[in-house]
Amino acid sequence: MKLYEYEGKRLFSYVGIPTPNGQVVREPVKVQGKVVVKAQLLEGGRGKRGLVRVTEDSYTTISELMREGVSIFLIEEFVPHSREIYLSAMMDRETGNPMIIASPQGGINIEESKEVKIFTIPLDRKLMRYDVDAVEKYVGVRGLEPMLEGLLRLVLEYDAELAEINPVAVTEKGPLALDSKVILDDNALYRHEDLLKQFQREKSQSDSYVELDGDVGIIGNGAGLTMATMDLVKLMGGNPADFLDVGGGADTEKVTSAIMRVGSNQKVKKIVINIFGGITRCDEVAKGILNAYTKIGKPIYVRLTGTNEEEGKKMLQSHGIKVYEDALAAIGDALRS
Ligand code: GDP
Ligand code: MN
Repeated sequence: MKLYEYEGKRLFSYVGIPTPNGQVVREPVKVQGKVVVKAQLLEGGRGKRGLVRVTEDSYTTISELMREGVSIFLIEEFVPHSREIYLSAMMDRETGNPMIIASPQGGINIEESKEVKIFTIPLDRKLMRYDVDAVEKYVGVRGLEPMLEGLLRLVLEYDAELAEINPVAVTEKGPLALDSKVILDDNALYRHEDLLKQFQREKSQSDSYVELDGDVGIIGNGAGLTMATMDLVKLMGGNPADFLDVGGGADTEKVTSAIMRVGSNQKVKKIVINIFGGITRCDEVAKGILNAYTKIGKPIYVRLTGTNEEEGKKMLQSHGIKVYEDALAAIGDALRS
């Protein structure tokens, strides 16, 4: 399960990794002084896409980004720094030991830079010995021990598959984590019910995604309805590309992230969404669909029933998304397109 930057940074604070002061907001707010407004998306590469903005007018910046479909923001103090480095910890699958990866060059170009040497330090899990000094010399920065310890704790205690800081900013007050990328091991989520609750995630959301070979992406709420939708697509002569159950209490963010996940699969050419709600708020769901639609840009066919149904339908129709009373009609149109 991929965490948002702000969620990862909360874990950083639990394990003693220093981060800039900040706050999470979901609407435009005015903050005094120079700040960094960061769109909270599960995909990386935000810097290059103009989704990390240094500004003295947080209100206008957030308003602009909201019009581009972003719904969660982290506002942080601006941190002047002289250098950026890269640090991460992950499990070495061969040895079953955690390892540290460090690079003297961090920031938005690290993936492309061929100059970057990755320095790995396999650890002996029993001894937990590793050479902090060697890492610090390699990257040319002192005072990294709390960060390295924290990253290792995320792997060992929090079952992170990956805990990454890119970049670590080298500041006058010491190293600071400007970004976080944390992926928790889906198979170990049952050990972290408290985190799932805190981040309002459901286990089902992260482990109910299944990839197939066709071209239709399928999203439903509830495992039964999702499977039934997939069966219908097949019965009607279509080929599912993937499917995902958004689970109970489908809200705006869950729906957005479900569509982003299903729709970012290259094979998906169209998306069928089957939400059968009782208490599910259709306007919330519609907002989630619109957020994702603007980013994914693939045709979406929606069957939507529940509370505030009319409101939800109108929102979608006014953006050219087709809404249907029953699933058969939605799938039929999707397959004919
Ligand atoms: P990503 O592109 O999605 O990985 O987003 P990052 O959080 O890494 O931000 C992209 C770039 O913005 C970073 O490499 C930094 O150079 C810069 N950046 C991010 N946060 C700050 C900050 O608080 N202060 C300053 N000066 N730069 C920042
Ligand atoms: Mn980054």
